Formats: sequence, structure tokens, C-alpha cells
Amino acid sequence: MSIAKNLSNIQKRIEQATQAAGRESGSVKLLAVSKTKPVALIQEAFAAGQVDFGENRTHELTDKHPILPAARWHMIGHLQRRQVKEIIPFIHLIHSVDSERLLAKIDREAAAADRVVDCLLQLNISEESAKSGLDETNALALLEGIEQYPHIRILGLMGMAQFKSSEADSPIVQAQFARLRRAFEQFKAFDHPHIQMQELSMGMSGDLEEAITEGATMVRIGTAVFGGR
Ligand SMILES: *Cc1c(COP(=O)(O)O)cnc(C)c1O
Repeated sequence: MSIAKNLSNIQKRIEQATQAAGRESGSVKLLAVSKTKPVALIQEAFAAGQVDFGENRTHELTDKHPILPAARWHMIGHLQRRQVKEIIPFIHLIHSVDSERLLAKIDREAAAADRVVDCLLQLNISEESAKSGLDETNALALLEGIEQYPHIRILGLMGMAQFKSSEADSPIVQAQFARLRRAFEQFKAFDHPHIQMQELSMGMSGDLEEAITEGATMVRIGTAVFGGR
């Protein structure tokens, strides 16, 4: 199966779920998760019209970005503070801000690079201790203190549901996405130039339907675009 065909199949799945949820056509963006995948496959996806790519390791971002600088590169994995600097010049959106210390570091490096960096706050919605993320209380505190970080713009929230091993898990996964949506709706009340709650990054190859039902604006799809890892 070609990458172009996979992309068109996944776009159909997204569109079907969008319609089934009674949402506006085209309101869900596809982020192609290219982690571990060779640049040749990413170029194939780019040639087929895919512009947004997500990676979970900084070294893959710094390796791949120069080869395809016209793509929009997203960081979706846990980010170490010491690795922030290397991605700051080109990163389009950091989905995985999971602590205030990390946010402070991103702000400092963004200031040094003379840019404002767009970020999402990652919330831990799955109750699995292995998954990183802020809880709602910490996320709220961080937003209340956003004045301290003038080189950050918070554009929304990101979350991962627990692994869906069968359709029987669907209601649990959907309830976890609903939790993220509630935080998103609550945080929309913030009135600050550097907080614009517009993006809800949730849903992967196995659970994009549940995520779109709960209001995802961006789904992060790896396996269904590039094959298994
Ligand atoms: C790998 C990954 C994805 C994509 O998962 P697939 O199941 O391959 O679609 C999405 N989000 C994050 C944070 C990931 O690490």
C-alpha cells in the first residue's frame, strides 16, 4: 500500500468521524507521526500533500527538518530541558509541555532566538502513571502565570488515552477524551493574548473516532499512515 493511499484512507476515516459527530467538514487536521520512519517515506507523504509531521525525539527532528524544511515539524514526545534549544529555531508546535520548568526553559530559549513558540499543554487523562502530563490543577496554575513567559503562546491541549486493546475499551477511551475536552472548554475562559485555546490534539490510529467525537481538532496518526514500527 502506498503512503498516498494510506493518507487518503485516513482522511476518509477522519471525514466520516467528523460527519458522524455532526461537526463541520474539514475541522480536524491530520498530523502524520513519522517517528522512526525514514525521510524517503516522509518525502512521499509530503509529495502527496501532507505538510504536518510529528516526531517524539529531538534528534529525529534535527536530522529530518533540514531535509524537508518546507514541512511543519511538531514535537509530540517528552521533551528534556537540555534538548529544547536545538529544536527552537524551527519547531512549529510543541504538543508535550508537561511541566512549568519545561515551559520556563522553552520561554528562555525562544527569547534567545527572538521568536514566540506555540505550545500545547499535555494533560495526563489516562490515570496511567507511566504517561506524562499535567493534571488540571497544575495546568490551570500554569495558565494563570503565563505573564511570566512572554515568548510562549499556548494554543490548546494535548492528551493520550489509555491503549485501546479492543472495541470494549472504546467507552473508557472516549471518557478520557471527554475529560480533556472539559479542561479545554474551561480554559477557553482565559482572556490573554498568549492563551488562545483553539487546538485539541488527541486521537491516534486506533482511537481517532472517539477523539473526533469528543472534539479533537488535530489527530496524531503514525501506524495508519506509515505502517507499523
Ligand atoms: C506514536 C505516537 C502517536 C501515533 O500513534 P499511532 O498509534 O502509530 O497512530 C501519537 N501520539 C503520540 C504522542 C505518539 O508518541
